[in-house]
Amino acid sequence: MKIVIVGAGIAGSMTALFLAKHYDVTLIQDKKWDKPCGGGTRIDIFDKFNLDKNLIKNEMNYVNLKYHNHTQKIKLNTKLVTVIREEFDESLRQKAVENGAKLVFDKFKKVETHKIITENGSFEYDILIGADGVYSSLRKALGLGKIPSVLAFYNRINKKSEVCEFIFDENKAKKEYSWIFPHDKKTHIGNIDKIGFVKLCEELGVDIKIKGYPIPKWNENIVIQKNNVYFVGDAAGQVMPLTFEGIFYSIYSAKVLAKSIIYNLDYKKEWEKVFLKKFKFMKFLEKMNNTPFRKILMQAQKLSFINKWSVNFWQKEKIN
Ligand SMILES: Cc1cc2nc3c(=O)[nH]c(=O)nc-3n(C[C@H](O)[C@H](O)[C@H](O)COP(=O)(O)OP(=O)(O)OC[C@H]3O[C@@H](n4cnc5c(N)ncnc54)[C@H](O)[C@@H]3O)c2cc1C
Repeated sequence: MKIVIVGAGIAGSMTALFLAKHYDVTLIQDKKWDKPCGGGTRIDIFDKFNLDKNLIKNEMNYVNLKYHNHTQKIKLNTKLVTVIREEFDESLRQKAVENGAKLVFDKFKKVETHKIITENGSFEYDILIGADGVYSSLRKALGLGKIPSVLAFYNRINKKSEVCEFIFDENKAKKEYSWIFPHDKKTHIGNIDKIGFVKLCEELGVDIKIKGYPIPKWNENIVIQKNNVYFVGDAAGQVMPLTFEGIFYSIYSAKVLAKSIIYNLDYKKEWEKVFLKKFKFMKFLEKMNNTPFRKILMQAQKLSFINKWSVNFWQKEKIN
């Protein structure tokens, strides 16, 4: 059986890696790219999938949650690590190739029955997978509508930081929060609120260009399969509400998709079995974070049992 995967970012490369031992898999990537991303994810994916730990730029066993003048140190159960996406994605692609996938640098243009047309040729498929990110041109070609998204403002600054921070302050960014992710010698910073981002830059004493890139806003109604065409990662909107984590959930969703194809299971049902409860609850918290209830949520973190419960809930998944 021939499987063609459009997009060799995290979701596409991992899906290829899981499927290539079973099928004839072709992975199509338009160009080498440093995806705009904080690069923050969980360390357990490295052991679970035998990923190269040299890709890790920082390992942190706690994060700081800042609310106005108070800093709460949140101890993690599973370490948070940061990676540089260009290196990380390239390494996943190579792992997919080692497992038997064919990697082709080309750009998807059009879909026909059992065939896609790219800039430089065409590829026949029995199963087609869209892992081509938030702007998914495969979704567009199939008339499936855009992935709902929000624009994130971000950049990398020439400052070294040691700890990952999440900064909530209504006076700076009304409804959103800023994030700081240590990257080797640089630091990735961002906020969904443009004014909040500008204020963060002022606070850090940096004068940089403001860049913007969309992050999917997950909802239950996003179509993730149409006949023999499946979607995974950002192209399926599989980003955790509130925390905007897409790396871990792209990898885990890729695993669920591969299992569904291998065992001929209903992909949507399988995905929902694993993720629906948590995604729905996080969506609820995301809504609460945009109301005065945020103050209660933040202050509750000072109570150690709430703190522990939150971390247990946040990091509860163990990839099977
Ligand atoms: C500013 C910002 C910060 C973020 N920070 C974090 C973070 O710290 N931690 C975290 O977990 N998540 C973070 N995310 C989310 C995370 O980056 C995404 O959820 C994740 O990259 C999804 O991976 P993906 O493989 O689905 O999509 P992508 O990484 O977007 O990969 C899609 C791939 O498809 C390729 N492609 C696109 N169109 C075509 C085409 N026509 N033909 C061929 N190939 C094509 C692209 O080149 C790309 O390689 C952040 C997102 C943003 C915008």
